[in-house]
Amino acid sequence: MNLSDKRTIETVLKKHGFSFKKSLGQNFLINPDVCPQMAEAACDKNMGVLEIGPGIGVLTKELSHTAKKVVAIELDERLKTVLPETLADCDNVEVIYGDAMKLDLHAIIKEKFADCEGVCVCANLPYYITSPIVMMLLESKLPIHNITVMVQKEAAERLCATVGSRESGAVTVAVNYYAKAEILFEVDRYSFMPAPNVDSAVIKLNIRQTPEIKLNDEKKFFTLIKSGFAQRRKTLVNTISNTTNYSKEQLREALKKIGLSETVRTEQLTMQELADLSNNL
Ligand code: SAM
Repeated sequence: MNLSDKRTIETVLKKHGFSFKKSLGQNFLINPDVCPQMAEAACDKNMGVLEIGPGIGVLTKELSHTAKKVVAIELDERLKTVLPETLADCDNVEVIYGDAMKLDLHAIIKEKFADCEGVCVCANLPYYITSPIVMMLLESKLPIHNITVMVQKEAAERLCATVGSRESGAVTVAVNYYAKAEILFEVDRYSFMPAPNVDSAVIKLNIRQTPEIKLNDEKKFFTLIKSGFAQRRKTLVNTISNTTNYSKEQLREALKKIGLSETVRTEQLTMQELADLSNNL
């Protein structure tokens, strides 16, 4: 069954009385070139793949050819009748019905991928929840090699921006702390059914074995980052003193110690400077 063929999808979905739910970010891939490239970038034949949101299984099927085993987590239980039909010839795929944000992914990886040489995450993520899923995957420190996902183009640009550039934000710093991020390729909106209002991009986050910066207190660092980017037009001193208990004097002092002007904005600092600021406060 060709799962990127529009007619086939329509026939299967009609047969099962399935209609797309916008609230679940259901835009299914119909561009046949995309899934092979994603699967190739994510994994090899000895690896296990965790997929989030298989939909009718177009990427799942490709991953099942490329990887040793695929475990796909799907929130929409209406697909319980569809997926056994569309993935009938994939005997290395298991679907778990539940919310990827709530399931114990550590336990799933431990239980399902014990016989695999490495695990990765690969998905065409639902737009409504892209950054929370990416951050959850990174912050929960899963034993994975990479996260290869399709996200909105704007989200891709923010997630993969250079720290210290105008495009960076709190999420850029967080991603950079845990992983090396790159945009692999762009995918236009007409590659999906139904077509969303925005274009997309596939990004790959290669998980760092050790962070590139040394922090005395991870929690303090992330509190500062969140606060530092909260009011982007203000200086670092003003936004952090407005949104935390640190005084302007403490912040000026810490900036001076690391050789930075008191008028800098958070987006101008490199990873090392952000780490130094946090460690000096
Ligand atoms: N992988 C398919 C494709 O590429 O055509 C479908 C991708 S579609 C953009 C997103 C999928 O994620 C949908 O199947 C949706 O039901 C599912 N989904 C939405 N929220 C979810 C969640 N919290 N946990 C797991 N799956 C979710």
